[in-house]
This record gives sequence, C-alpha cells and structure tokens, in this order.
Amino acid sequence: MAGRRGPGPVGRAVTAFLVAASLAVVCVGEAPPPRACALARGELTVDDLPAGSSVLDCAAVGRVVTHEGAGVAVPEPGTTVSVDALTADGAGHDFTLRVAADGTVSYAYEAEPARAAAAVAGARADAPAPCADGAYSTEGRKEYGTYEWFIGDGPLPGRLSHAEGRRAFEDAIATITTSRNDCGFDDRVAAKARFLSGTGNEAGIDRAARCTRRDGLSVWDAGDIGGEAVATTCSWSRPVPNGPEELLEADVRFNTHDFPFTNRPSGACTHAYDIRSVATHEAGHVFGLGHSGPGHENLTMYADSFACSTGARTLGKGDVLGLRSLY
Ligand SMILES: [Zn+2]
Repeated sequence: MAGRRGPGPVGRAVTAFLVAASLAVVCVGEAPPPRACALARGELTVDDLPAGSSVLDCAAVGRVVTHEGAGVAVPEPGTTVSVDALTADGAGHDFTLRVAADGTVSYAYEAEPARAAAAVAGARADAPAPCADGAYSTEGRKEYGTYEWFIGDGPLPGRLSHAEGRRAFEDAIATITTSRNDCGFDDRVAAKARFLSGTGNEAGIDRAARCTRRDGLSVWDAGDIGGEAVATTCSWSRPVPNGPEELLEADVRFNTHDFPFTNRPSGACTHAYDIRSVATHEAGHVFGLGHSGPGHENLTMYADSFACSTGARTLGKGDVLGLRSLY
C-alpha cells in the first residue's frame, strides 16, 4: 500500500514544515514556527550562542560564554555585561555581551595580541608623553548617579589592612571622579563615588577572570583570576534611550595569586605592581573608559600594566578627555 511505503501528500507536507522550522525559515503570512535552541552542557563559545540568537529560546541565562579566553555569564534580558582585563603582557581580553530586552544576544570584542616585554618597553619609550597624548576610548556606559562601592573582607593586595586598602582604592577612584592630572587640565568631570563598607560578598569574577554573577553590590577585592590578568573589572549596565548605558554594578578583583603588589614602589622594586596605579586604571573602567590602544603606553588607560611604575596614578590628556566626553 502506498501509505505504508512512504509518506502520502499529508506526510510530505509535515516533512516540509519540519525542514522549514529547523532552518528557521519564516513563512510569509503565517506566524513563524517557534525556534528551538538546544545548547550543549559545559562552557559555551560565541559560536554556540551566535549574535542574533535568543537567550530565552536557548535557555542561556546564567551560562558562561567565552571568546579568546575572556568569558562572561549571560545576564538577564535588558542587561549588558563587560569584562576588562589589565594584563602583564599587553594582551587584551575585553569582551562585552549584550542581551536586548527581547532576549537577543550581541557581542563586542577588543583583542590585542601579546607582545614581548622588550617590545612593550620600546613602544612605551616611543609613545607620546601622557600630557601630549589625547587618545581615549569609551565603553558606551557611565555612572549616572553615585558609584557606591564595598571592600571584600578577604586579604587585599600588598597585604594592606582594610583601612589602608580603603584609602588606596578611594584615592584611585577619586583620581577618576575629579580627573586628577599633572597636565594642568581643570576638573570638569561630574562623576561621583562613595565608599559604603566592608562586605562578606565577593566580586563576581571567577578563577578564569570571567564575570560570573551580579549580586547588587560593587565589590573591590583580591584573589585568583587566572595567570594572565593583573586585575579585572566586570561591569553590568542597562540601556538608556539616547545616551550611554547606565552602570548597575562594577566589581574589581586584583590577582594576588599570580602577581605581587605594593603600595609604595621603591628603588628596590623589581616586579611588584603599584596598587594605586592598577586601581586607578580599573576605576577608569568602572566609570566607562576603555583602553587607549597600542602606541599610547603612557596613558592610565593603556591595557598593559607596568611593574614598579606609579605613572598611572595620575591621568594623562586622553584619560581626562575620555572622562569629559562621558561626564
Ligand atoms: Zn583595562
């Protein structure tokens, strides 16, 4: 019988519909079939959850998505998450994942290859002086109100006491909010910050420097974030009509597992990172600055960090201009 050997006219129609659904073809004049999206277990890459796919159809909220070593957990719809790493070798690992209100995912990357230490040192010597270099980039977000932050109750870089850590971080954050510089630029930046207290909460940054979760508190702390990043900032923000996104939370973690830090680099310093310089750079990310890029090694927002240098404690021209463009 024909019906037993193969699909009849009705069976063929059903087969055709299933093929159309699996290719996500939208039928004109009819509601599109629901799109199925099954993700494998474990970590995902941007290829598993490509731009344009829906985190709702794919049940992807909370799953970690990586790109060239940088990673973030997929946030709720209507939220953007960014990871900014300050590296020792000049390798950039910046990665932004944005989830629109309807669940559609999109990405932005900033990647720079690692360079040999000698090449970086040479580039630094050739780069313009900080007060003569107007380069900057911004990340499309800002703190519209007051950045209220906490210090985690674990060990801090350089074995600082919590009182010392608060002073060092507060000083660094104030350098950003008052655009402190040695170039003679006056402060036209209206950014605000306030330290709240110590906390048992931790920065939402895991051992591979991935932004894991937003817990509602902006926490500065220290720990193991993998071998490459000296420090990492994770920021969460949400869209604002006709303006930069609004910062919701920004966590900062220093990598005390792999790098030594000091609050006072001296002539005897060989490889420790200056806490205030690193903190000022990370505070720049908190307030929406991106990296200044190759050729701008003397600005605070250059992606590499220089051991034993206090140069990033004060801002260069581009750092100031970047803040003025946002605030
Ligand atoms: Zn950075």
